[in-house]
Parts: sequence; C-alpha cells; structure tokens
Amino acid sequence: MTRSIKYPILITSILLVSLITSKSFGQPANTNPTKPIQGQTMQLTDEQWKERLTNEQFNILRKKGTERAFSGMYDEHFDAGTYTCAGCGTVLFQSDTKYNSGCGWPAFFNFIPGTINEHRDTSHGMNRTEVTCAKCGGHLGHVFEDGPRPTGLRYCINSASLNFVSDSTK
Ligand code: FE
Repeated sequence: MTRSIKYPILITSILLVSLITSKSFGQPANTNPTKPIQGQTMQLTDEQWKERLTNEQFNILRKKGTERAFSGMYDEHFDAGTYTCAGCGTVLFQSDTKYNSGCGWPAFFNFIPGTINEHRDTSHGMNRTEVTCAKCGGHLGHVFEDGPRPTGLRYCINSASLNFVSDSTK
C-alpha cells in the first residue's frame, strides 16, 4: 500500500523538477559577440542548408570545400566592419584583425572569443587545424602559426563562409 502511494509522488516530483530546470537549457542566439557559444546550437539537414546557402557556400561550409586562391570577394577587402558566418550570422571576426597575408584568402590574426572551434584535419595528406563556426559547425578554413603579432596566428578563411557588415551601415 505504501509503495503505491510513494511512486506517484516520486513521479510527480521528477516531472516538476524537469519542468523547472528545462527552462535553463534553452540556448538563445549569440546576440553578445563576446559571450562564448556553448555547444553547437544550430543543426539543420543538408536539404535545409541548401535552401539557405548558394551552391558554393554549401560546398564550403557544409562539405569542407575550399574556394580558389585569390577568387574570394573578401581576400583584398579592408573596409571597417565585422565579418559574420554566412551560415548562421554569428559575428566571427572584426576588420581590425584582418591583414593582407598574400595567401589568396581572407586572413585574420584573431577572432571573437568563443565563436570558433578548432579541429585537427589530416585530409589531403596534410596536418592542419580546421576552424569551424561554434554555433552552426560550418567549415570556415584553417589556422596556421605564421601570422603577425600579437597572436602569431593566421586564420585563413574562405570568403564564401563569410558575410561582411560595414560599420557605416550600423
Ligand atoms: Fe555559423
């Protein structure tokens, strides 16, 4: 008899606790670019990505492709503003960290903290560090240790993975 009373109370308690704590698990969009993104919060199917992206953006962001050197629209682009992920809109880079590396792709010596993840990439017979958007997992490019001070890093990023927001339009 005691058992039959205990269980409904236990189940009700578990449901209540779940309901209360579930609210704290919701992860809003990264509206504050200095706040680190916790986990990949945006996950779409290939079909959904194809509806949002151009063929080139899909091949690079979702299939880890690389645009031809010196072909991207932001390679020699040095206006003041911010660069966002073309997949999800997260603000990734500031123009004051962009420099002309001569490598044929947009290069930055730093990124906005918490917005990028790094992964070892041994594809194509090379040992590189891939960088992806922390929110949508989109492939951005690679990071190399031949950049300028103060970081000594070169974030070599596909133009197709980025959109640019000019300071003059803010
Ligand atoms: Fe993204």
